[in-house]
Amino acid sequence: MIDVNHGIIVDVEATTAIRQAEVLAAKRMIERSMERFDLYPARLLGDSAYGSAEMLGWLVYEHGIEPHVTVFDKSERQDGTFSRDDFTYDHAGDVYYCPGGKMLTTTGSRINEGATLRYRASKYDCEACRLKPRCCPKEPARYVPRSIYEGARDMARQIARSWEGQVSRRLRKKIEMLFAHLKRILKLDRLRLRGPSGARDEFLLAATAQNLRKLAKLIPAPNLQPA
Ligand code: SF4
Repeated sequence: MIDVNHGIIVDVEATTAIRQAEVLAAKRMIERSMERFDLYPARLLGDSAYGSAEMLGWLVYEHGIEPHVTVFDKSERQDGTFSRDDFTYDHAGDVYYCPGGKMLTTTGSRINEGATLRYRASKYDCEACRLKPRCCPKEPARYVPRSIYEGARDMARQIARSWEGQVSRRLRKKIEMLFAHLKRILKLDRLRLRGPSGARDEFLLAATAQNLRKLAKLIPAPNLQPA
């Protein structure tokens, strides 16, 4: 985990290259930085590996961290029918409006292990609708799923479209360069020590070396006078 303002590595955790393991490691590092260094990040920058609904909900609702993260979203339909983005969510009323202007409501019951609400249109509205072939050709009425963390996802999407989001994307490139530097100069592309604890030690040493290099650059060079 890197403090992007100063290019300092705040924490490291070696994981397997599996998305869930990386997300868990990110959560651990954030919580560890809070406990050990009293560091409360205002925002987290990351790619879509950290953009699941659950992770965004954890950042926003549990820690108040702005998600400058690419949203992981598979809701776009590939069969030419309307996707969820074609429906408009009304926060005040907690309802969706379809492209035909009809309302979709929820009973509040959840699916997907409690993580998703379903908003359903009226069967009578859909049956009489000229847009039905482009909306729900095989079902009597259209429903739209909404994650219980959708508010956090909306926030991440809004940030991505903003000027702050553009700045964060540029900063992310800087971080990628730092990782490339670690791999190339400190030869971290191949680990020498074995096992998870070996990987952790090696990353820790490399991060320490990188931070010391950074520190050396921050300290002004002594003004040597000729003897
Ligand atoms: S089919 Fe139903 S949900 Fe789809 S646009 Fe028509 S009324 Fe709206």
